[in-house]
Order: sequence, then structure tokens, then C-alpha cells
Amino acid sequence: MGLYDNISFQMCCPSCGKELKRFQSKSGSCTMTTLSPADVNEFYDFCDCGMTVKFTRPPRNLDNLTLQDIFGLGFVMATGRSNIPGVDDV
Ligand SMILES: [Zn+2]
Repeated sequence: MGLYDNISFQMCCPSCGKELKRFQSKSGSCTMTTLSPADVNEFYDFCDCGMTVKFTRPPRNLDNLTLQDIFGLGFVMATGRSNIPGVDDV
């Protein structure tokens, strides 16, 4: 259907230096909304000079995450025997 999402990211074209700021993705909801690069597995833009810039990463398997996976997602671990801020008492 030709729908896509806009990606909130900009950079200079590696070939001509022109600012690229119309990145799109078809790996999100494709509802013409604006997403972060963190929300998709691929996004791309086309420069007027003819250069295509595309970023891809393998889809994340979010089942059976290891501790290393959790750190890879950007989490920082806190431990304590009482009152970690934001953690409700069980
Ligand atoms: Zn260019």
C-alpha cells in the first residue's frame, strides 16, 4: 500500500554532505506516524545526489532474554535490600 512511518533521525549524506532528514521505515506500524530508530529494524532515506542510506539490524528476539541481553537493551541494574526508587513493595 506504500505506507510507511517517518523516523526521527537526521544525518549528513556520506556522499555529498547534504542533510538527510526524511528517513522512513516499513518495519514499524506503517501508519505514517513518527517513530524513533529504536522502534524499528530498518530505516532509509534517499539523497538528491542519488545516494540511498539505509540502516538495518536483525530483529530482536525478546523471548528468553539473558542478563547480557538486558544490559544490551540499555538497562542498568540496581539492587538493594530496601527501597529502590521506583520499585513498589511487593
Ligand atoms: Zn547526497
